[in-house]
Amino acid sequence: MQDIGPDPRKTAKPEGFGASAAKKKAEAALLGCHAGPGVMEEAARSAGKSDILDKLAADYPKGPHDQPQSMCPAFGSLRVGLRMRRTATILSGSACCVYGLTFTSHFYGARRTVGYVPFNSETLVTGQLYEDIRNGVKEMADPEKYDTIVVINLCVPTASGVPLDRLPPEINGVRVIGIDVPGFGVPTHAEAKDVLAGAMLRYARKEAEAGPVARPRAKKDDRPTVTLIGELFPADPVGIGALLDPMGLSVAPQLPSREWRDLYACLDSRVAAAVHPFYTASVREFAAAGRPVVGSGPVGVDGTAAWLDAIGEAAGVPADRISAAKNAALPAIRAALADNPINATVTVSGYEGSELLVARLLVEAGARVPYVGTACPKTEWSDADREWLEARGAHIQYRASLEQDLAAMKEFAPDLALGTTPLVQAAKERGTPAVYFTNMVSARPLFGPAGAGSLAGIVSAQTRGRDRFAGMVDFFAGVGTGESTGYTVPSRAAAQPMSAGD
Ligand code: SF4
Repeated sequence: MQDIGPDPRKTAKPEGFGASAAKKKAEAALLGCHAGPGVMEEAARSAGKSDILDKLAADYPKGPHDQPQSMCPAFGSLRVGLRMRRTATILSGSACCVYGLTFTSHFYGARRTVGYVPFNSETLVTGQLYEDIRNGVKEMADPEKYDTIVVINLCVPTASGVPLDRLPPEINGVRVIGIDVPGFGVPTHAEAKDVLAGAMLRYARKEAEAGPVARPRAKKDDRPTVTLIGELFPADPVGIGALLDPMGLSVAPQLPSREWRDLYACLDSRVAAAVHPFYTASVREFAAAGRPVVGSGPVGVDGTAAWLDAIGEAAGVPADRISAAKNAALPAIRAALADNPINATVTVSGYEGSELLVARLLVEAGARVPYVGTACPKTEWSDADREWLEARGAHIQYRASLEQDLAAMKEFAPDLALGTTPLVQAAKERGTPAVYFTNMVSARPLFGPAGAGSLAGIVSAQTRGRDRFAGMVDFFAGVGTGESTGYTVPSRAAAQPMSAGD
């Protein structure tokens, strides 16, 4: 067998670092997601990134598992940048990571080029990579084309101390934002969205504090606004706008934003609504701008009533107008839930951050929800949802690991499991109907009457297919699993020979 050298996962240990900064950088270049607990973090701290890692650890505390169990976290930041107009994004990282990230971004419909500054161990060790990044940014900084250039350090450049914070804040009038989004510092891709959204909001806040800034392109009227924090299904901000209308409020451009000038409008809102509760850095910027922040979201009857109360109060709306908003919204939501009752046990798990809101809606529609797992951390912005669900018998697991989600599915034997790809796969192997949270649940309205009707529709359609799932388990009985996946036991192969037409 060809000698391919020692396995870096076995040889690259913290004590291996220390001969010199250059050696640390070179060794970091060998590592990645598979480096093992603490190795990359130790390298990054030795390379001068302690402040950044401490801030990430405070904003996004880790859970029982020390590595992300979903896609590369940097995808969250990449996606936020790619969805903004006149914004260029450059990745600084290993080619394999960049390949995976660009592949995923195009799979999800990004129609933008992703910039890449390649490196090798020499440019990493000598500091030339930083020079190459700076030159690349200078070359791209064309104010005719761009408002902003975002540079994202992935694991290896972060572990090697590539100092993106030394990039000039602006070149030729184009803003430059450098962020570190290492997999060993940001636990989920959801929170990585906040890393970039928060950095942009901070930049925009300082600009607004320094002098006049551009008005949002789409400003419709002069009513005070509510900023919705989190990536929502496109119909949801419209539906929420209708809920707010009787209180004389409207919806601000959303965060993450689609255009730089929208960031000023977000900050200029009367209230910020942390509909997705994990945007810690962004919430900090709203607080710095003196904006009150309200948690939870307008789901179901109870959730919508409480949310309208909280928003109205924070915005200084008179009580009679808050009542008018509730009277306008709640009967329609109550009717939508009554028209779409759910009689099923459902377990919910995901990494989007909206899992608790989805569970609330399911419970209001009649579902039994014994378990809600979210890869996101516990924050005060989901406290009301947690308390409401716990009072109705649900176990809430923040920073849930896949193992915890799987154990819950086995324990509660639900009629339907909402979850991540590996959970859905495991559920189907057991003959349990299951739906992928991101593609099915997050791709529908959640709030107001529209949300109440649509979620119940998925649940009833999927639970009706239970017999079909059981039939599939019978059909595939005897086909190998685990290490023998794809190998059919001889008796079955003999019983069902393949024909040329199969
Ligand atoms: S950047 Fe992402 S894919 Fe690359 S090593 Fe880090 S976590 Fe893994």
